[in-house]
Amino acid sequence: MTDALKITVAGGGIAGLAAGACLARLGHSVRVAERAPAMTEVGAGIQISPNGFAVLKALGLDKQLAEQAIRIERVRLIDGLSGRDAAVLDVAKYRPNLPFFAVHRADLVSLLADGARAKGAKLDLNAKVTPPPEGAALPGDDLLIGADGLKSVMRACLNETTKPFFTRQVAWRAQIEDQDATPEVQVHMGPGRHLVSYPLTDGRRNIVAVEERTGWADEGWMHADDPAHVQAAFAGFNQTARDWLAQINNVYLWGLHRHPVAGRWHVERQVLIGDAAHPTLPFLAQGANLALEDAWALAHSVTTTGLEAGLPQYQSTRQERVRRIVGAATKNARNYHLGFPPLRFAAHSVLRTIGAVAPERLLARFDWIYAHDVTAQTSR
Ligand SMILES: Cc1cc2nc3c(=O)[nH]c(=O)nc-3n(C[C@H](O)[C@H](O)[C@H](O)COP(=O)(O)OP(=O)(O)OC[C@H]3O[C@@H](n4cnc5c(N)ncnc54)[C@H](O)[C@@H]3O)c2cc1C
Repeated sequence: MTDALKITVAGGGIAGLAAGACLARLGHSVRVAERAPAMTEVGAGIQISPNGFAVLKALGLDKQLAEQAIRIERVRLIDGLSGRDAAVLDVAKYRPNLPFFAVHRADLVSLLADGARAKGAKLDLNAKVTPPPEGAALPGDDLLIGADGLKSVMRACLNETTKPFFTRQVAWRAQIEDQDATPEVQVHMGPGRHLVSYPLTDGRRNIVAVEERTGWADEGWMHADDPAHVQAAFAGFNQTARDWLAQINNVYLWGLHRHPVAGRWHVERQVLIGDAAHPTLPFLAQGANLALEDAWALAHSVTTTGLEAGLPQYQSTRQERVRRIVGAATKNARNYHLGFPPLRFAAHSVLRTIGAVAPERLLARFDWIYAHDVTAQTSR
C-alpha cells in the first residue's frame, strides 16, 4: 500500500468518473476535471454487462443501478428480413449470477458522479485540461489520468498520431416512446445491416441501426440525420423493426471508425484509460464496460505497487484482454451482416439448432468477456 497520491483525471465521462470513484475509495486525493459546463449526457441508452457491473457492485453502486435500469433477461437474435428467431440467449436462466442491464447513459453518468463525490473525489466543470509536456502531471500533482475519450489529446501526446480508418459502416441512434418493456435485447440481422434495440425505463426504447455503405460519414454523437434515411435503409426488414423506425422523430448518424489500441498507455506521470486508450466499435457493447474495468485495475495497481511499477502493471494486465475484445467487436459486424441468402440461411439454421439443443454452448462462447471480474482478481 503506497502513500495517498494527488491525481487529476482529465475527462468526466464514464471512465473518468469511475476512476474518480475507484481512486477516492482507496484514499487518494482526486479531482475529475470535465471541460463541459455540465455533466450532461446525450439521450441514449447503454448496456452494462456483468464484467462492468462487477465494478459498480464493488463501488457499492449496484443497487442504485438496478433501480434505474432494466435487467435484461435474454438476447434474441432475429433474421431481420423474416422476423424469425435465429437464437435466443437466455442469460437470466443460464447465467443468473451474471446480470445484464440497459440504462439511460445520463443515469449512469449521474450515478458515477454521485458515487465519486460520496467517496471524496472533487468534480470540476468547465475545466479543460491541457496536458503538460514530457509526460508530467499537472503542477502539484503526482499523476494525470487521460480519460478524455475517443478524440483524446492525451493519447496523441503519448503515441504517434494515427488516422482512424472509416469502416464503411454507419450507426444511427434514436429513442422512441414504447410501453413494451419486455426485458430483452433484440438484434435484427440482415444483409449489410443490423438493428439492435432494447427497452429503457420511463417508457423509452433505444435503437441503434447499423448499415454498411461506401460514402464517408463523420465520427461524432451529435450529427442529426433525417429519419427517412434510416427508414429507407431498413425498408426490407420485418414489421416490428419497421414499426419502431416509423416512430423516430430525431435520429443521429455516427460514422464508425476503427482506431488502433494505443501502443503506449503511460509515460512518466501520465496514463490513459477508457476510449482514450482503446476506442472500440459498438458491436459487443463493451466500450463503457472496459472503461469501468480500466478504472478499477488502474486504481488497484497504483495503490498496491506505487506509480513506477503500477503504471506498467496496469497496462500489462489490461492490454491483452482489451485487444481481444476490440478485435472481437470488429469481427462481429460480419457475423450480423451476412448477405448471400444460402450463407445467411445456413448460419441462422446453425444458430437455431445450437440454440435449441445446447443453449449453454452459445452462451459459453462469451464467458471470457462477461464472466471476467476485475474486482475479484484484484480484491482491494
Ligand atoms: C452507438 C454507440 C453505442 C454504444 N453502446 C455501448 C454499450 O451499450 N455499452 C458499452 O459498454 N459501450 C457502448 N458504447 C461505447 C461507450 O459509449 C464508450 O466506450 C464510453 O462512453 C467511453 O467512455 P470514456 O469516459 O472513455 O469517454 P467519453 O464518454 O467520450 O468521455 C470523455 C470525456 O472527456 C471530456 N474531455 C475531453 N477532452 C477533455 C479535456 N482536455 N479536459 C477535460 N475534459 C475533457 C469530454 O467532454 C467527455 O466528457 C457505445 C458507443 C456507440 C458509438
